[in-house]
Amino acid sequence: MSLSDPNVHDCIVIGAGLSGLIAARELHRAGHSVLLIEARDRIGGRMHGERLASGQWIDRGGQWVGLTHHRFRALLDEYGVRRFASPTHGRTVLMFNGDRYEFNGFFQGFYEGEKPGVSETEWRDATEAWERFQTLSSAMPAGHPGASEQNKRLDSDTFARWIEDNTRTEFGRWYFSYMVRAVGFLGPAEPNQVSLLHVLWGQNCAPQSEYPEAELIHGGAGQIPEKIAAELGDRVRLNEPVLCIHQNQTGVEVETAHNRFAAKFAIVASRSIFPAKFATVRRCHHCGNN
Ligand SMILES: Cc1cc2nc3c(=O)[nH]c(=O)nc-3n(C[C@H](O)[C@H](O)[C@H](O)COP(=O)(O)OP(=O)(O)OC[C@H]3O[C@@H](n4cnc5c(N)ncnc54)[C@H](O)[C@@H]3O)c2cc1C
Repeated sequence: MSLSDPNVHDCIVIGAGLSGLIAARELHRAGHSVLLIEARDRIGGRMHGERLASGQWIDRGGQWVGLTHHRFRALLDEYGVRRFASPTHGRTVLMFNGDRYEFNGFFQGFYEGEKPGVSETEWRDATEAWERFQTLSSAMPAGHPGASEQNKRLDSDTFARWIEDNTRTEFGRWYFSYMVRAVGFLGPAEPNQVSLLHVLWGQNCAPQSEYPEAELIHGGAGQIPEKIAAELGDRVRLNEPVLCIHQNQTGVEVETAHNRFAAKFAIVASRSIFPAKFATVRRCHHCGNN
């Protein structure tokens, strides 16, 4: 491989989700030659929307914009995409164990306003365990967690085990399971599919107290990947699942199911490369310290 060869890109970015699209766009804007390789037949990854025949839109993945999502807010402003406040009218409804509780309050990670009508023992169990979870998560350093011995231990433990050790009522266990299944950066995952480090880190960098679901986007978040990709033109290659990256002194060769592409550098903007088994998505979310 000769680095002056025009077929050798400055950088290959793997994965055309939001991260890969932005990485490729920034490199392209800085004057570097870039190729963005995506396994699927569409861009956007977990940020994926659809326009309905009625003219309305739906988002099938990422959609909410938080008050502290500064970079994403700047991206929307750059493309002139407007936001609107998430609708929060009405009473909160909690369904637990076949009972229905209605109250004027907010109860996701922390609570505001009225409490739901569960027993005092159940309520204290959930909120005290949440305090312990919050204390552990706040102790994490900013940025991606490093591979310290402590983090390796947290990454090899499941959130399910932490819940078992830290709650004593069915409500407490249900509450944490619900949080990781449905809410914010903790999930979406089953508690036994996600490492303790992953959820602590998620809570540390995107806590519910920063209102990550404060706003929604006119036209849906699914339009954003298209806007970024428009700048990249034919630098995006779909249907090219990467199987392997070969690295040597001069650069990298990225091997997909159909082709080989050469570059000086590669950026992996997907959760992992799945050799030979792209369709078998690994279900366990580690932070990568194992
Ligand atoms: C249901 C749901 C709701 C969400 N709601 C919100 C929300 O409201 N607000 C918010 O901020 N975030 C939300 N998120 C999270 C947000 O969508 C993601 O954090 C973000 O889209 C991740 O972008 P990414 O580029 O890092 O990863 P991904 O979007 O996962 O992109 C990775 C890309 O890499 C590709 N890829 C994987 N392996 C290979 C391979 N071997 N070769 C080539 N390509 C490969 C994948 O196909 C994918 O396109 C939500 C996520 C989900 C699933």
